[in-house]
Amino acid sequence: MTASNSRHHRDPERLKENRREFSGAPVLKVSKTPLTDGIDSRDAGMEEVELVRRQYLESEQRFRALLESLPKVAVQGYDRDRRVIYWNEGSTRLYGYTAEEAQGELLEDLIIPAFMRDEVIQAHSAWIKEGVDIPADELELKHKTGELISVFSQHLMLNEHTDSPLMFCVDVDLSDQKRAHRDLEFATHFDRLTHLPNRQTFEVDLDSQLDSCRRQDNGLATIYLDIDHFVEINDALGYDQGDSLLVELTRRLRECKRVTDLVSRVSSDEFVLAFPGVHSAPDVRRVVRHVQNVFREPFVLDGRERQVTACLGVALFPENGESSRELIRNADVAKNRAKLEGRGAVRLFQQKLHDDLVRQHHLSARLEEALDNGEFSLHYQPQVAAASGRIENLEALLRWEPAEGPTISPAEFIPLAERSGLIHRLGDWVIEEACRQQVKWRAKGFHEHRIDINVSGRQLVRPDALKNFEDSLQRHGLFPRDIGIELTENVLIEADETVLEDLRRLYHRGFRIAIDDFGTGYSSLSYLKHFPVTALKIDRSFIHDAPTQPKDRAIMEGAIFIGHRLGLEVVAEGVENAEQLSLLREMHCDLVQGFFFYRPMPAKEIDSLLGSFVPSHEGLSS
Ligand code: C2E
Ligand code: MG
Ligand code: MG
Repeated sequence: MTASNSRHHRDPERLKENRREFSGAPVLKVSKTPLTDGIDSRDAGMEEVELVRRQYLESEQRFRALLESLPKVAVQGYDRDRRVIYWNEGSTRLYGYTAEEAQGELLEDLIIPAFMRDEVIQAHSAWIKEGVDIPADELELKHKTGELISVFSQHLMLNEHTDSPLMFCVDVDLSDQKRAHRDLEFATHFDRLTHLPNRQTFEVDLDSQLDSCRRQDNGLATIYLDIDHFVEINDALGYDQGDSLLVELTRRLRECKRVTDLVSRVSSDEFVLAFPGVHSAPDVRRVVRHVQNVFREPFVLDGRERQVTACLGVALFPENGESSRELIRNADVAKNRAKLEGRGAVRLFQQKLHDDLVRQHHLSARLEEALDNGEFSLHYQPQVAAASGRIENLEALLRWEPAEGPTISPAEFIPLAERSGLIHRLGDWVIEEACRQQVKWRAKGFHEHRIDINVSGRQLVRPDALKNFEDSLQRHGLFPRDIGIELTENVLIEADETVLEDLRRLYHRGFRIAIDDFGTGYSSLSYLKHFPVTALKIDRSFIHDAPTQPKDRAIMEGAIFIGHRLGLEVVAEGVENAEQLSLLREMHCDLVQGFFFYRPMPAKEIDSLLGSFVPSHEGLSS
């Protein structure tokens, strides 16, 4: 647009004219198809013209009323120089200028951002000169404050090919939709609390980081961070304190990260970080220390300073994974291992950790089916009197012999059954099977030997576990002296009052209750006097080392002494050689159990053992 043109169109008279046109006075001039065309006033009746004129005026007023009443629709009219000749309430609301302020101002000075200015002027002049339409579009236009506003803008051209072409813009405010869209975008990519990238975003970022590592032959460490006892912080201090811990931790993590490092929050108290440029063991130690330092200063929670710790799992690129997914998963596996070691532990990923996990997952999935398929059985290991070698009792030990593949140890599958809850069904099966077997042996005339079954802590979580045990015995017509139970120390320590009550009842009815693996658990002896138990089974680790390790021997001797002073029967597990046996005899241990005498064996073998064979004093290894 030339300067002279612009001057010509600034002519105040002309502006007034245009404004009047739109305000309705010489309205017939504005019409695209003027109604007077082809009508000879001398020929047509004056009334008819007047009628049409009135109708038109009314329709125009309705249109104006409509424009004014649309609060969300901004309508502006511009003359051929793009000066404002019309500005409705909606425009004031959307762009911030009152009608008075806007009147006569140039479109490009009011609401067009600098980067669009030339384009708008060109489009407008192309329309005037060549009749090229300006298409409707989503635009960002400028508010009085300078802020950009999203609008959908449509353009209406009037009086084309005349001296006074008018452009009307009808703009709809899109800010709400845009804001909603932006919020949604944010929520899908970032964590609302800490504003850190979420897992999905982190995976994408890490993959592109890995690409550049590959190009530059660079290593990278992925660290999985899990705050210790976060649930307790939440429970004890409330969610807002938990949140403020997470926010403060995020601030510290951000502070210590370099531009190329990545930080994300992947779930409630879990963060994953990536550090490129890690090649050697000292590099790994450096980044781990870096993250640990974040916890050095206490966190202020609920007005008090508290020391917070976290477990870390580390997976390295390229050794432990090629993709973000693999690295995050393996760092997570390592972190879970670290968790088992306690507060603040750090673990590097090892393939074995992962393989173990895969196997556990597979076994877990197979367990229930195995129970249904009858793949479980009980083996029995005799306990013999240390002095005479006579078989006194039998410990029932669970065996899983899958249809395919080798036997799986209870040490491996019992924890899995505990985790999945299948331990209850499995435990019920053990009780049933032991009762059934005992009834059979009793029928064969073997009246002396008790069967002891192992009961895990998780089984006792079910409130009626011990009651069911008693009921099973009754159903089979058995008595307390027929079946006993073994519990570990920790189970007793953690037992609640109802469990202890049930145990006391069993104790008073004459059941045998043994503390299994004695010496490996709680390590305080004072609890012994509180619990209703009848026997101690000294853990085999002490027996194993007693002949060579004076300290183990001392513990063993101490345990036997204390057991006897408390009136308990003392059993030694894992007796494997004559040396161990003679030590135990010297110490007056009551019963011994171990490979030196018998391995655990199927009921059929016990049958023939009990039926045909009285062992010698020296003991026999089968
Ligand atoms: P536990 O109750 O301490 O059982 C003794 C374990 O020591 C058995 O391992 C047995 O085979 C083994 N053992 C016996 N004599 C010797 C020996 O001379 N040397 C060595 N090295 N080991 C010996 P097993 O059968 O693999 O059982 C492992 C654990 O699994 C058991 O430890 C018990 O805690 C658990 N378990 C076994 N059966 C059941 C069950 O029916 N229910 C529950 N809840 N746990 C069970
Ligand atoms: Mg046992
Ligand atoms: Mg044991």
